[in-house]
Amino acid sequence: MANALVRELERDLDNRRDEGLQRIRRTLDSAQGTRPIVDGARVLAFASNDYLGLACDPALVAAAREGAARWGVGAGASHLAGGHQAPHAALEARLAAFVAPDARALLFSTGYLANLAIVTALADRETAVFADRLNHACLNDAVLLARAQHVRYPHGDVDALAARLRASTARRKVIATDAVFSMDGDLAPLPALLELAEAHDAWLVVDDAHGFGVLGDGRGTPSHFGLRSERLVHMGTLGKAAGVAGAFACAHPAVIETIVQRARPYVFTTAAPAMLACALLASLDLIEQGAARRQRLVRSVARLRERMEPLRWKLLPSQTPIQALVVGGNDSAVALASHLWSQRIYVPAMRPPTVPRGTARLRISLSAAHTDDDVDALAAALRSA
Ligand SMILES: *Cc1c(COP(=O)(O)O)cnc(C)c1O
Repeated sequence: MANALVRELERDLDNRRDEGLQRIRRTLDSAQGTRPIVDGARVLAFASNDYLGLACDPALVAAAREGAARWGVGAGASHLAGGHQAPHAALEARLAAFVAPDARALLFSTGYLANLAIVTALADRETAVFADRLNHACLNDAVLLARAQHVRYPHGDVDALAARLRASTARRKVIATDAVFSMDGDLAPLPALLELAEAHDAWLVVDDAHGFGVLGDGRGTPSHFGLRSERLVHMGTLGKAAGVAGAFACAHPAVIETIVQRARPYVFTTAAPAMLACALLASLDLIEQGAARRQRLVRSVARLRERMEPLRWKLLPSQTPIQALVVGGNDSAVALASHLWSQRIYVPAMRPPTVPRGTARLRISLSAAHTDDDVDALAAALRSA
């Protein structure tokens, strides 16, 4: 007989299921890619953030294997307490040189931790953090952890943000935004946000989880817009287009040193294994020489959008590999995903709280590894739904 605490959890779980909000984990019985084996079936997948198809690239696998042989599989300690190994240092130098040569780069084991560390380093109780309403959950969690005032503005609305900045009496101001919105695929108006940051003496924290490797010749969304500024803190993740795991912050050396000295999500966690840094050094080679992969991706995005018109659902405007088909209700989105699944096409349905209520959607994610035929198969399956 379960106790009352357990029963409470079970009731809550039942409610979630009744609302169509239950999440299931499908298990891959293969490496990541466009044709993984998922729950026992080989499927055509548009589900991963492996935009450049690097997650099982032989060069990265070889680098990881050699890295494990030389450096072992565990860093053994935090960066400040004996776990900072030469491949970490080399990767930080390479990232800075590639992304913003006058800045300094710092590695993290996940993007989630990177956002927590960056925001808590820059913001405190006397800080207002101005955040786009569609920002990723971990940027929002970072504001909570910093105990800062959370001022949200409507998605991409520069005028609304300007009004909130003018009205604020906070001692310090931080603007925080996704660069490429993870569930919509559109870009933040970074040039206008940087202008506002300059005008209001604010930091601009840019979460480029979906832009690094893809936009700006691989350097990310700030490069795509040609932006450089001491106020800009650029966070990129290394488990999406870069194909491995981890994240980096690239910023003025004073920002980076503040994180190293003070940010608890940086200080109190074990360094990621050096073998991953070795794989990431190989990944950076391919990202730097990745023009062909990026062109392939641009072509697939255009092809999919063209082939999908006209559809009954709303395809959000996006020129990035994230293509969102907004269905509306939770059950309808799941039903459409199931229809595709029955044709062995895997596209995940995204529901609240990942997306706003009433905007459940299919999140189609394209990779440079998708062929024209793959894209056409998806479009045909959607048209027949
Ligand atoms: C995936 C993601 C993160 C978290 O990065 P992880 O390395 O997966 O922890 C942060 N921000 C955005 C916008 C993301 O999509």
